Amino acid sequence: MSAELNNGVTPLEQWLPNLKKPFVIAGPCSAETPEQLMTTAKALKQFNVDVLRAGIWKPRTRPNGFEGQGVEALKWIKDVKEETGLPFATEVGSALHVEVALKYGVDILWIGARTTVNPFSVQEIADSLKGVDIPVLVKNPMNPDLNLWIGALERIHNAGIKKFGAIHRGFSSFEKTKFRNVPNWQIPFEFRRQLPNVPLICDPSHIGGSRDLIYDISQRALDLNFDGLIIESHIDPDNAWSDAAQQVTPDRLGQILSELKYKKESSTDTEFVTHLDELRTKINNLDKELVETLSHRQVLSNKIGEYKRDNNVTTFQVDRWNEIFNTRKEWAKKLDVSEDFVAEVFKLIHEESVRRQEEIISKK
Ligand code: PEP
Ligand code: MN
Repeated sequence: MSAELNNGVTPLEQWLPNLKKPFVIAGPCSAETPEQLMTTAKALKQFNVDVLRAGIWKPRTRPNGFEGQGVEALKWIKDVKEETGLPFATEVGSALHVEVALKYGVDILWIGARTTVNPFSVQEIADSLKGVDIPVLVKNPMNPDLNLWIGALERIHNAGIKKFGAIHRGFSSFEKTKFRNVPNWQIPFEFRRQLPNVPLICDPSHIGGSRDLIYDISQRALDLNFDGLIIESHIDPDNAWSDAAQQVTPDRLGQILSELKYKKESSTDTEFVTHLDELRTKINNLDKELVETLSHRQVLSNKIGEYKRDNNVTTFQVDRWNEIFNTRKEWAKKLDVSEDFVAEVFKLIHEESVRRQEEIISKK
């Protein structure tokens, strides 16, 4: 089935005139007012952006956020397209959205992360696209489920759409990280491995969630041979009605685009970065285990502290310290780890244990 998807896609260059890899979609998170949309679009045009974006309907996590201007804002698109000569992309979440977006001349549709999670909604959109020839981009679902992402593309493809691609926008995660949505690069790698012909673009705005991360994430995506970027840009980001923290001014976007290094396409680049990432993921897991081990050690050491306190024994016992010091160095030697290094590490670990035990004893 993946093979059918991979072979059934129209190459990016044939989607719209002048679209080539790597292409840039930019524009505000939401269309707010005719003036905001027009001034942002005109400014972006100067920086060789290929496609404009703006949300017309905004899927908000909680009600009462700005939910988009709806059909009213679709009416502004005509002028913006005429003024800039650029194609326009927006998010659709239902058959009705598709119908009106097509009526008002939207050129590219995308399915948002909150819609991709729901096969009923994706199927409804796919059914409404039968007989229509328009590029459709599918954002990854909120949760890191590659099959759900590919499944959504299959539904679109089965409806007869041939110009389809994917947007990597990161994944929602319970753990707090510096990202708004963790990139989990292994998932887009695997996407690429299974579907090398399907255009894959990166959304650094929703991955990062903050302006200062846009450049690095974009560079990373280019290093990994993504086909394009979709970046949120607003004429007055601080006062944006949605996603203010992650939007950049058109000037800043122009600067980012001019500073990005566009590498020559070579499979070794991708392989190199992919492999590096796999190794880093393994290191991350090991480091996490190290910290967990330290935490377990600390729990035991605290227990010893309580025991010493209840039996009136001193915290620091030189014999025990010598034993720790010598045995750990021997273990290190056997495993080809520097003895001096391990001795240093255990000095720190032991100091910390003693400090904690003293705290326990003094709290008597
Ligand atoms: C957006 O592009 O503004 C958006 C709502 O994105 P996502 O579906 O990735 O959250
Ligand atoms: Mn947004």
